Amino acid sequence: MAKKKAMLIDVSLCVGCNACQAGCKAQNGQPPNEEKFLSLTAYTALSKYNDLYVRRMCQHCDVPTCVSVCPVGALTKSELGPVSYDGEKCIGCRYCLQACPFHVPKYEWSSTKPSIRKCTFCAARLAKGQPTACSEACPTGATTFGDRDQLLIEAARRIGAEPGKYVPKIYGEQDVGGTSMLFISPVPFEQLGFDSRLGKTPMPLLTMSALSKVPNVLSVGGVLLAGIWWITDRRTEVQAYEASEASKKKGAAIQPKDDA
Ligand code: SF4
Ligand code: SF4
Ligand code: SF4
Repeated sequence: MAKKKAMLIDVSLCVGCNACQAGCKAQNGQPPNEEKFLSLTAYTALSKYNDLYVRRMCQHCDVPTCVSVCPVGALTKSELGPVSYDGEKCIGCRYCLQACPFHVPKYEWSSTKPSIRKCTFCAARLAKGQPTACSEACPTGATTFGDRDQLLIEAARRIGAEPGKYVPKIYGEQDVGGTSMLFISPVPFEQLGFDSRLGKTPMPLLTMSALSKVPNVLSVGGVLLAGIWWITDRRTEVQAYEASEASKKKGAAIQPKDDA
């Protein structure tokens, strides 16, 4: 059985050089301009808090909400860790955009055949036994790649070795049920824009718990199928509308809201 991979991001070692974003963009054939927010052409971006920098990207959750809400299986969690996207299956419902607790997936609003874009965790590289492009590009060791269990040991070792340097928490060890992105930090994670309300329970379990209180919700196969039909139909409507808007604006793209 393949060992689950992860990245350890040590906020105390990050110098804000942006080499991780440059490496990611090169890997994914994206324009090399520096971007401050996640976008269709930036799968990772840096947020600055006083003198600290924090990387943003898909967390590759162990129990991903985006996977659980996708009605057609276009998003899947692999044994190695990456949450991967299959554009051929995607019907454009955008449930994953709404469901992701980290506001990660971006949508090609201006395309007539829109896709979702987000960090791939370099799944193709991992499958070949290679590290992620961003970890390879990082000059300080602020982003390291490896087996998740080993990185958890390393993170705990760093926290224990220098009491006072780090807050005693590995973000992602248990948050939202655990993630492939692990962070250690010299300041509380709330001060770095992490949402402390997310808790440790996998988000899909919370959703199921809430749904189970709704009468008949677990016998709604027909409703689900009708929903899928509606989504497919709606997608055609949305595409027609967006194509017409795009042509009115002579190709100007509708920009989605940026999220840090
Ligand atoms: S961070 Fe969002 S997009 Fe990434 S795996 Fe988790 S739920 Fe899915
Ligand atoms: S894992 Fe790959 S796709 Fe994700 S941020 Fe790093 S280089 Fe980019
Ligand atoms: S490459 Fe490393 S040091 Fe540079 S911004 Fe990214 S994580 Fe920080």
